[in-house]
This record gives sequence, structure tokens and C-alpha cells, in this order.
Amino acid sequence: MNDDLDTVTAPATATATDEPPRRTYELEETGFREVPKRWRRFYRIWQGEGDTLAPNEVICPVCKVVIRSRRELRPGDRVYCMPCMSRLVVVRNADGGLEAEVVY
Ligand SMILES: [Zn+2]
Repeated sequence: MNDDLDTVTAPATATATDEPPRRTYELEETGFREVPKRWRRFYRIWQGEGDTLAPNEVICPVCKVVIRSRRELRPGDRVYCMPCMSRLVVVRNADGGLEAEVVY
């Protein structure tokens, strides 16, 4: 017997995925000045060694800016790097982390 089975999180019609719901994030101003003010909180400068990416962040492979999302990023997500106007797709890298590839 498993009393946990009365969960209501997965309707019978849900598409086949075991993934938990995405976390959402409150984005604060980062002081990033290379895009118009209303977009600034979606980007930040990568600090280099010692810096870490949150689950809602990915680095632009073109200009190395950190792109931030309001929700947790997953492989297959498309993101846009406004500073260098690159369209990117989120992929899982060999380390199990997330990185972005340019979409041509
Ligand atoms: Zn970029």
C-alpha cells in the first residue's frame, strides 16, 4: 500500500513527463547597462571564477553574458540574448549542467 497515491498533481491526461513543476524566480535589478532599463534584470555580467549559475540562468556562448529567466530553465527552452541579439536554445552539457547553444 502506498498512501501517497492520492496526489492531484498529475491529471490522467497530462503529457508523459515525470518532471516536477518549475521553480519561479523573482528577478531583481542587476545593474546591467547594455540593454534598455526594463530588460536589465534579465541579464547580468558573468563574474568569472567563483561565480555560479542559478537554475534559471544560462551563459550566452557568444558574448558571455548571463541570461536570466523568471522560471527554472530546462533543456529545449529557447532564450534570447538581447545584448548580442543571439537566439539560443538551452541544452544539457556533459557535466549535467545547463548551457546555451546558438540557434541559426
Ligand atoms: Zn549574447
